[in-house]
Amino acid sequence: MMKSFITHLECTYCGETYSCDEIHNTCKKCGKVLYARYDLAGAAKVLSKADLLRRPGNMWRWFEIMPVKNPANVVTLGEGYTPLLPALRLGKRFGSSRLFIKEEGLNPTGSFKARGMSAAVSKAKELGVTAIGAPSAGNAASALSAYGARAGMKIAVFMPTDAPEMMKREGHMYGADVYLVKGLINDAGAIVRAASPSRGWFDVSTLKEPYRQEGKKTMGLELAEQFNWELPDAILYPTGGGTGIVGMWKAFDELERMGWIGSKRPKMIVVQAEGCSPIVKAWREGKRHAELFPNASTIAAGLRVPIAIGDYLMIDALSRSNGTAISVTDAEIREAMGEVAREEGVFSSPEGAATWAAYKRLIADKFLSPDDSAVLFNCGSLLKNAELIDISGLPVLDPKDPELLTKIN
Ligand SMILES: *Cc1c(COP(=O)(O)O)cnc(C)c1O
Repeated sequence: MMKSFITHLECTYCGETYSCDEIHNTCKKCGKVLYARYDLAGAAKVLSKADLLRRPGNMWRWFEIMPVKNPANVVTLGEGYTPLLPALRLGKRFGSSRLFIKEEGLNPTGSFKARGMSAAVSKAKELGVTAIGAPSAGNAASALSAYGARAGMKIAVFMPTDAPEMMKREGHMYGADVYLVKGLINDAGAIVRAASPSRGWFDVSTLKEPYRQEGKKTMGLELAEQFNWELPDAILYPTGGGTGIVGMWKAFDELERMGWIGSKRPKMIVVQAEGCSPIVKAWREGKRHAELFPNASTIAAGLRVPIAIGDYLMIDALSRSNGTAISVTDAEIREAMGEVAREEGVFSSPEGAATWAAYKRLIADKFLSPDDSAVLFNCGSLLKNAELIDISGLPVLDPKDPELLTKIN
């Protein structure tokens, strides 16, 4: 039987340690983010690269460095092992043959939130949790609702009233209690915190429990494998709460400690929308913590996160990797969505398209060179955001119209 080498939880801020066999949210001493820690030398002794290839193609292939102890507790819908697609036509504009799209839109529920929720729901099940609550900008609610349904748990999700339509419908269809909140994700989070104790919910808000980032870290593990254990030169990540960027950073650290990769790291690049860019602002001001971004607004719902508990973890990854943080406008995002769809056949979410918009700017600014291998994260499918596609101008044909053929290009 496969064995997890998880040993304990550790606070990323003050170093306090906790048991991984009890339910924890944030650090009881300082309120900051807890990470799962592993006996990585032990894991490296039993797991080989050849083992990975023999296992089913989902993120649980990395069981030894995943937090669930009993494989029977894994709640999976086949998340992870998404393709790394060469973006040759987009890259060619700048003379790059080393631009890639990590196509996370193919995950269950159409976004990379599936990875985090598969991990969090599985570990919660192992610890005896039967009810979970979470705030969400949209996709996290869909994913939690699906995995909760599969685990037979009671799920309550809270999202802004103007969250993308499909994301509201998905949770409802999966049998979750869906609440629409007049406000943003942080307002929804406050409601979950207030209601959780009396309702008996485990609160799985972004980075306020230790396991969603363990699911997101598998994106980093996969990239290492897909780049043949030499990491790319740059990773552009559309950043809201930041689980993915900090999860991948953790993955690289763990792989190095296992002796599977060297010390080279990609430049980690936070991409945000101009209408909600708290991390970009903090980065520019040289601060380790971000302030609440006022009047947050953007068409990229997943980026509408005005305050993030993991701010210091993101900023640390940016400084240690010589990365940067950049924001793009909604107009640039719209243009980029069309380009990615027409030139690569990838149905990119606005968040994912923001990374292409950012890439163009970073090449123009010479922060990146066309010779750098760079990965754009398309974190979700545009199928979830049908309302962003304007088809009002489509021609309507009448088969009886004598002029019919003159109306066709
Ligand atoms: C949640 C989400 C993001 C932001 O991810 P974080 O890890 O929270 O920073 C980006 N894009 C999409 C489509 C999302 O659903």
